[in-house]
Amino acid sequence: MNKALKHSVTRRVIYSTLASLLIAGLFYGGYSYYFLKSAYETSEASNASFQYGLGELSDKLRASEALNNDLKTLLQARQQEKEAIGQQVQSLSSTVSILDKLSKTDKQLLEKYSSVYFLNENYVPPTLSSIDASFLNRQDKPVQILAGIAQHLADLLNSAKTAGIQLQVLSGYRSFGTQQSLKASYKTVYGSGTANSFSADQGYSEHQLGTAVDFTTPLIGDTFSGFSKSSAYAWLTANAYLYGFNLSYPKNNTHFVFEPWHWRYVGVELAKKLHDENKSLYELDQREIDTYLVKFFD
Ligand SMILES: [Zn+2]
Repeated sequence: MNKALKHSVTRRVIYSTLASLLIAGLFYGGYSYYFLKSAYETSEASNASFQYGLGELSDKLRASEALNNDLKTLLQARQQEKEAIGQQVQSLSSTVSILDKLSKTDKQLLEKYSSVYFLNENYVPPTLSSIDASFLNRQDKPVQILAGIAQHLADLLNSAKTAGIQLQVLSGYRSFGTQQSLKASYKTVYGSGTANSFSADQGYSEHQLGTAVDFTTPLIGDTFSGFSKSSAYAWLTANAYLYGFNLSYPKNNTHFVFEPWHWRYVGVELAKKLHDENKSLYELDQREIDTYLVKFFD
């Protein structure tokens, strides 16, 4: 074989090989394109169905959430109804207990007495209690007070003692008869004009009620002289209301003579009001006073 022929055969072999490779390449490319395209389409379809499923799921979730909210609202409404009924029952029973308490509380306890309105001369407190002798100015003369307020008075006296104040009780409950003889003795000592101007008259009903106390100190005793300048009076002015006691006849009151020693129990709540407003019981309207009756012994 000559050299030229040899070259021509080699070229043909190369060309045909290249052609085959090109054809194979085209086939492979076409197939790959087709494969990838169908794979892509399949994934598109499944994605769409997944999206659809997801949509359906979130719809169901929304529906169940709405149902849940409805149930919650319903439950809250039931709860509120239940609470409202509970409150009604409670307010009813508290009304019953208030009425019961009121029916057992003597209306006279917060009555305003004056030179024209007295307590019935036969009135006697239901239960009286003796004041501890250590608190009396005259230990040989027992003093009684309305039993229901005895603890409030004991608390007041103990508190004064703790504060280093020498505070004593001179008088508490006085019957109509005792009051009469006391007044008679004042008339003998001071003359009827002077005797009529102080406690023998104005404190009359309050002492018969068993809720009024005449305080004094060991030094002052039963003269009452200078009590308004004593530390005992200053202490009472600042603290007695905490124990339900109120000064019945303060200085410059328009009704009566100033009696710094004479304190009447009116209940803690009313005493606080009077103290805060710097008023005497006699300045308040009786109807307003009566609203405090239910809390009298609290
Ligand atoms: Zn008095």
